[in-house]
Amino acid sequence: MDEKIGKLTAIYETIEQQVDQLQKKTCVSCIANCGACCKRFEPYISVLEAVPLAKYLRDNPQKHELYKKNVKRNKEKWYACPFYDDEKHCTVYPIRPLICRLFGFSANRDRYNKVTFSTCSKIEQEMPEKVKVARALTRRGLDVPIYQDIAQQIQEIDFDMATDYHPFSRSVQIAVDNYDSIMSGEFNTTKTSGNFSELLRRKIRTGDFL
Ligand code: SF4
Ligand code: SF4
Repeated sequence: MDEKIGKLTAIYETIEQQVDQLQKKTCVSCIANCGACCKRFEPYISVLEAVPLAKYLRDNPQKHELYKKNVKRNKEKWYACPFYDDEKHCTVYPIRPLICRLFGFSANRDRYNKVTFSTCSKIEQEMPEKVKVARALTRRGLDVPIYQDIAQQIQEIDFDMATDYHPFSRSVQIAVDNYDSIMSGEFNTTKTSGNFSELLRRKIRTGDFL
């Protein structure tokens, strides 16, 4: 499993470099102190992406206690991602999952192979001219992270775990509860996968994923 985490980390690092270049060339950036995407909704992530987060929680018992408190708080009334801190913002920034990296700074490839820069509504509203530049440069071949290509690279690491999708805190819980079997390679997603994961796998296998 360590090798798989290494491959996931390498993909994250490439995205980091691409987004860095994108921001330098277009000046598209997050709105200062926004954090709306961490506060408004709970995204779905794969169990594979949750493994580094589970390791972080196991290695930091105090952070794990705080995380559990935040999950409990969210069950009563949604507040924010359990890793979000009002002052520090993302407390797991270096190991945040894919959606957190791509939201606002990526492109989509359609079935005709057309690549279009895609961003969040806040950035779209606040800096439309910069977004226009990003769209134009992406059309001309700027190396931006393309969602479908990265999803495929991650699926090649471990198809079952990379397509076992759940709401963020559920995926983290699965990774925490099954950490030892995940690390020893004995983990099997048949016990955790739900209808959403099965539908996603069917779409990928039939080429209907776009
Ligand atoms: S990606 Fe968009 S919503 Fe999220 S913090 Fe940046 S500006 Fe705000
Ligand atoms: S992991 Fe970090 S970036 Fe992602 S939603 Fe949570 S606080 Fe936001």
